[in-house]
Amino acid sequence: MIESPRTPLSVLRQVFGYDRFRGEQATIIDTVLAGRDALVIMPTGGGKSLCYQVPSLLREGVGVIVTPLIALMQDQVTALTDLGVRAAFLNSSQSGEESAAVIRRLRAADLDLLYVAPERLLMSSTLRLLGEVPVSLFAIDEAHCVSQWGHDFRPEYRKLTALAEQFPGVPRIALTATADGRTQDDIVSNLGLTQPRRFVAGFDRPNIQYRIHGGAQGREKLARFLADEHPRDAGIVYCLSRARTEQVAAWLGQQGRTAIAYHAGMGSAERAACQDRFLREDGLIVVATIAFGMGIDKPDVRFVAHLNLPKSIEAYYQETGRAGRDGEPATAWMNYDLSDVVKLRQWIEGSGAPEEQKRIERQKLEALLGLCESTACRRQALLEYFGEALPEPCGNCDNCLQPPETYDGTEVAQKALSCVYRTGQRFGVSHLVDVLRGADNEKVRQYRHEELSTYGIGRDLEVRQWRSVFRQLVTLGHLVSDQEAYGALRLTEKARAVLRGETTLRMRREIEPRSVRPARRPGATNLDRADQPLFDALREKRKQLAAAQGVPPYTVFHDRSLYEMAGRRPENLDGFAEISGVGASKLKKYGSEFLAVIAAHPRAGIDRPSETEAETP
Ligand code: ADP
Ligand code: ZN
Repeated sequence: MIESPRTPLSVLRQVFGYDRFRGEQATIIDTVLAGRDALVIMPTGGGKSLCYQVPSLLREGVGVIVTPLIALMQDQVTALTDLGVRAAFLNSSQSGEESAAVIRRLRAADLDLLYVAPERLLMSSTLRLLGEVPVSLFAIDEAHCVSQWGHDFRPEYRKLTALAEQFPGVPRIALTATADGRTQDDIVSNLGLTQPRRFVAGFDRPNIQYRIHGGAQGREKLARFLADEHPRDAGIVYCLSRARTEQVAAWLGQQGRTAIAYHAGMGSAERAACQDRFLREDGLIVVATIAFGMGIDKPDVRFVAHLNLPKSIEAYYQETGRAGRDGEPATAWMNYDLSDVVKLRQWIEGSGAPEEQKRIERQKLEALLGLCESTACRRQALLEYFGEALPEPCGNCDNCLQPPETYDGTEVAQKALSCVYRTGQRFGVSHLVDVLRGADNEKVRQYRHEELSTYGIGRDLEVRQWRSVFRQLVTLGHLVSDQEAYGALRLTEKARAVLRGETTLRMRREIEPRSVRPARRPGATNLDRADQPLFDALREKRKQLAAAQGVPPYTVFHDRSLYEMAGRRPENLDGFAEISGVGASKLKKYGSEFLAVIAAHPRAGIDRPSETEAETP
């Protein structure tokens, strides 16, 4: 057979088993192949890896991938090896023997890709070694780590300018999912990129459905959401405190789910074990503080839930962005309560940070609260925050799917605010609601609040509704909570204007969150009911094959490949090669096994047995 010259497209098809490049992948690859530097900002799941993997396979020498995420290296290398790519990593988790073996392969030009942590790369021995072999490119992943403006500054990233000096002819490609304009500039200057071409893909993650609820009983709402929409799926639940992660994990366990807690108080071995289970088990829920996430490269996380407010929109977007990396529908679900708002405000004020820093954090929190209380499309608001316009409402967020009711809340706000005023601005929400609803209890009598003009003027609203009113007033900045006085609410200047009747106030009516069916995107794989049994059987096969090799199931095949197999039912290897994600190596390795499963599950009511028999080789 004559070997035709390899092109990016032929590599994409033969090695990775995909039909075509996505978005700007092809142009990025051409840029690097031409020896130029590039800066790539692409959302999670956008397909950044191929941007350096394909050129590494086409250019002479080894492609060096710099990444801080040591825990992921093994899985990445396993997945590449499965594709027939010669890949390895160098990091501190290896024994001396293992790294010696990698170095031998490197010297023998037996590697296409080498993953390495920045500290390791910058060791003089490593730099010397790389000086002795041809290097095709340097890819700097998680490049925002080089910027103090980014959210995860890592000082050693700054020293990567050494690459520009020592390897002047080698193209460098910096990649990240999150970088605003300032961070992008920082990446270019701090890495010393040479006239890089910039590729900034949109931030939108259309397959993620955003849902934000206010009010108490978050845990119960979460349970309902999971039962209705993700009964068997893997996901992450974020909480603020360590203790709470453990409580919630135990509680989900009682609800029949497999859930484990993860937080910074655990030892590193325990944490690694936790991450490992998350990657390898089907349908595991991790209940975590924000310590969990960075570097969890699991494509089939079907939901990310927040039981508390995240710190900022950036944090929210990053955390929810861990859902649906494979492009299939996923949900970002949040419930938050008044106490969250109070707590976050107190953290900022009590942090001891310089005033300038506090001012930035206050602004970030206010932007987040604006998103939470908004009655308009969440995705439009999110993208706008990142400086991107979405012309039409998205149709795939709670506010689009179930438009919230608003009402003129001026009068209830006046009642609530004057109750705060009459009780001396010394009480928290529970007592204020008691007074408004005319409760007869000891505290009311102790302070003789039954004598106030606001006593009992709010019997028409339920406790839950009043709490929602107070939450919105705090969120909107009419009330502040006094940390020295156990969360007592005080009026702000803004409140006085409402009390004087100078402004009106629109409020959001709390509705029972209803389960909304994930939107069906064009192009998304939707499984036909008749194909479900085959899909389950394919999943089982995948699990067996993965377990036998000690790798996560998705390294064998992604869900999408299984969906396609179940829907298209190829009958031979040629047909199997057409399935997305099936390249030459996987065709050979897994083709016949999966074909056997497909043959054993004729589609009910369609396949005529005689024909099926006749055609099966
Ligand atoms: P990122 O690093 O940007 O988060 P990945 O490189 O992990 O994204 O890619 C996300 C998913 O999309 C992976 O499952 C990958 O195999 C798949 N993918 C990337 N490019 C393509 C393509 N051109 N065609 C089909 N699937 C692709
Ligand atoms: Zn929307």
